[in-house]
Amino acid sequence: MASPQASTCPFFLRILIYFLGALSSFAIGVTTVYPPFNAVPPTNSSQVKAWLKEIDLSGAPILKLNHGLPPTCPPARRIDPKACYWTCQSCAADDVVICPDRNVWGLTFDDGPTNVTSDLLDFLRQQKLKATFFLIGSNVVQYPHIAKAEVEQGHHIASHTWSHHALTTLTNEEIVAEMKWTERAIEDATGYRVKYMRPPYGDIDSRVRFVLKKLGYVVVDWSGDTFDTQDWRILAKQKTPSQIIATFKQSINTYLNNNVAHRKGFISLDHDLTAHTIEVAKSVIPYGRAHNLTIQSVAKCLHDAMPYAAINGVSVDDSPHPAPGSLGLNAGARSNTCTNSSRNWVAADKAVAHMAAVSSASALRSHVQGQHFLGALLPWRWRLSVEDGDMQLARNILRWLMVLEAVAWWGVVLGMYFVANMASF
Ligand SMILES: [Zn+2]
Repeated sequence: MASPQASTCPFFLRILIYFLGALSSFAIGVTTVYPPFNAVPPTNSSQVKAWLKEIDLSGAPILKLNHGLPPTCPPARRIDPKACYWTCQSCAADDVVICPDRNVWGLTFDDGPTNVTSDLLDFLRQQKLKATFFLIGSNVVQYPHIAKAEVEQGHHIASHTWSHHALTTLTNEEIVAEMKWTERAIEDATGYRVKYMRPPYGDIDSRVRFVLKKLGYVVVDWSGDTFDTQDWRILAKQKTPSQIIATFKQSINTYLNNNVAHRKGFISLDHDLTAHTIEVAKSVIPYGRAHNLTIQSVAKCLHDAMPYAAINGVSVDDSPHPAPGSLGLNAGARSNTCTNSSRNWVAADKAVAHMAAVSSASALRSHVQGQHFLGALLPWRWRLSVEDGDMQLARNILRWLMVLEAVAWWGVVLGMYFVANMASF
């Protein structure tokens, strides 16, 4: 039998060390390294260099970079005929610009997540509608819980770049950095790797398209000026919400008066930017429903059963997205195309298998990046944005701190063991 006096000092010392170790892990565990917000990410960081190594950009069309934010159209004679520039030549190539089925409205919101997105989500939940959200990577890092809520509520999320710069003004490498950092941010926040994207301002030409396709993206524009709500003009104080609403309702009327036989569906452009742009959505959506339009996400209207990219070889179907702690197995969580209960259960099984796969992939990445599970215990996120060249160094430091943290936790376990032993004396 050991002497209690002999073990008292090491015991308290050990507890103190364990306590300090656990405390430091709280600070370390919530650190994430992303490039600075709302700026084009540097292309000479080790991370972007690694991404660039994975793709071959050698065949990219050589076109002059445009200037401006967004660029204005030069005279037609000065635009390269092979540019296939959507904004200035109305050339969409194989970008998605419509929904294929008649009377289907592909509902999309750009530029979120923001502090008004939750209000829009509440409205869409009441309406039992799903939309596609084109997310800005910098915003996702600032509102990760809203991006997560979007997928958990069955919406479709996609990329709208990291910093919302016009892509025809950026180099091929900068486009890769914009897309990959956004992809990373969304995957960290939600566990999903996005497959669809929308170029900011609809600014896309054949060079930009080439790079996006090399990255595996499906490009979605919208169905021309008619279905651009132009809700951004409210922010610019060029129009009032009621003017915007009236114009868009007129667009719906014109659409419904077109020849039924040749009518395809359309894709609209809205923004979840301010209370005013949400007000527009809250008015025009019920109007569309009252006129028997079927409102869906873009992936749904395209009948795409795999709206996300595969992660580590695991594909993602259009099954419902269960909320944490629930499997989301009710029929209401799925679109109205699946009414057979046995099909719901098959879909649910696939969803559970998928969630397990993506969460393990996400957990692995989160661990490497330093978003440790302890971060969930804290009411805030301590984010470290380091400049370009320091990123790899920061990651290496984080990895070592993770090892220290693991050692500290094992220390806590051993400490409890000693406490239990002491108590028995
Ligand atoms: Zn935008």
